[in-house]
Amino acid sequence: MSATPAGPDPEQAVLDAVPTGLFIGGTWRPAASGATLAVDDPATGKTLVEVANAAPDDGRAALDAAVAAQPGFAALPPRERGEILRRAYELIMSRVDDLALLMTLEMGKPLAESKGEVSYAAEFFRWFAEEAVRIDGRYAVAPNGASRFLVMRQPVGVCLLITPWNFPMAMGTRKIGPAVAAGCTMVIKPAQQTPLSMHALAAILAEAGLPDGVLNVVTTATAGRLMAPLIRDGRARKLSFTGSTQVGKTLLEHASHQVLRTSMELGGNAPFLVFGDADLDAAVDGAMTAKMRNMGEACTAANRFLVHRSVADAFADRLTERMATLRVGRGTDDGVQVGPLVDATSREKVVELVGDAVGHGATVRVGGAAVDGPGWFYRPTVLTGVPLDARLTKEEIFGPVAPISVFDTDDDAVAAANDTEFGLVSYLYTENLARALRVSEALEAGMIGLNTGLVSNPAAPFGGIKQSGLGREGGSVGIDEYLETKYVALGLKG
Ligand code: NAP
Repeated sequence: MSATPAGPDPEQAVLDAVPTGLFIGGTWRPAASGATLAVDDPATGKTLVEVANAAPDDGRAALDAAVAAQPGFAALPPRERGEILRRAYELIMSRVDDLALLMTLEMGKPLAESKGEVSYAAEFFRWFAEEAVRIDGRYAVAPNGASRFLVMRQPVGVCLLITPWNFPMAMGTRKIGPAVAAGCTMVIKPAQQTPLSMHALAAILAEAGLPDGVLNVVTTATAGRLMAPLIRDGRARKLSFTGSTQVGKTLLEHASHQVLRTSMELGGNAPFLVFGDADLDAAVDGAMTAKMRNMGEACTAANRFLVHRSVADAFADRLTERMATLRVGRGTDDGVQVGPLVDATSREKVVELVGDAVGHGATVRVGGAAVDGPGWFYRPTVLTGVPLDARLTKEEIFGPVAPISVFDTDDDAVAAANDTEFGLVSYLYTENLARALRVSEALEAGMIGLNTGLVSNPAAPFGGIKQSGLGREGGSVGIDEYLETKYVALGLKG
């Protein structure tokens, strides 16, 4: 996307400015078949724009371009790779308002949240610009003194990257940043619901000087048909996926054919534990962040609130009060705090899960229903008395629904929290240091929010255990996912 568009209709202006083709070898072009797919506004159900709908031949062309660009890009000095990322960071930050508007239009989140995501996304480029020049190796004396070891780290090679719709830009920069820093080329496939933010990002990277063919973007309505042949092609060396656990498992099967390196950022089912000694004001603030960021459509969203019996009523009252004041509406409108869910299917799932919980005896304290009219809105909801066998304690809700259950002992709380195949993040609120450490150690999760409802930070290692994934993104380990380790045994003469 170029600089701030002028004109009376800012929405149309940002849509007009974003490229709609496939980005292959540094050029925007239509799908070979000429096919397109519609990108809809989830707040109105209306089509915003059509983008190219790639078929397998287009995917192969994108992979060809990434393969051709790989040797030259790996040879580019680290400082130059880092400076491309740094320039892209500056460009994104200079266009936050336009990029946020574009994101809100295609994804629905309120403008303030889109601005937050755009800045968060840009931070991955700033972080990895700094990491590009810190790729190091090792020189060591063998234990018996007879030889020497030289350990070097090199780019993995061509990467296939697949991203979801819920954070349309940040899930991309979290992969593109370390790949560029490490010297890898790539084909990226954004979600079909939200390709526009990725297109805008690709245009910015080109403007920042990323060589042709390093980043190739393909959008499609047939993800499996497009990506499976690329994953099995043999020329790509790495697959990094963010999305559902179900799709992740399918992709791991494909990846096994070429024994690809894989990074998997998958689903979550985060417990949010409030102990009897918690600072309740802080816990309610944290709950609002952990639950309502992105309308609850986040892998890190608090999915189950487990609250000690002594504070359960007070916590539920305060959370209900806060949820009841939230303003629901189109994310572009002033003062809106809760946008629409992404599509009809997502909203239907929320309706079903709440219905199931109520059928199992839960009480609706506020909300509990979809909003009539165009768009996929659902009311911010608090449920109490949720039994632990309700479906929404096992499945990702991905909506603005806070189910509250009660516990009596720390052991019960930890057992309930860990009773899931997921292990992305767990939140806990307590003022007792010993309890905080004991429970943090016992929780089965890759990340812990201790007295905070937000764990995402480009400088920290993000990722899950169990069926929430493999590998970490961000932090000082984020670049490791894009580097191979090579060891040279040095023979010493004589
Ligand atoms: P999804 O249905 O798994 O889709 C994710 C991406 O995979 C999309 O680009 C999708 O394309 C693509 N895809 C779907 N089927 C595919 C196939 N057979 N082969 C190749 N690609 C395929 O997930 P989603 O609904 O977009 O995103 C929500 C999920 O992502 C949640 O489970 C959430 O927890 C998870 N998530 C995890 C993290 C994390 O860091 N752990 C972060 C964000 C989201 P289409 O758009 O064409 O379907």
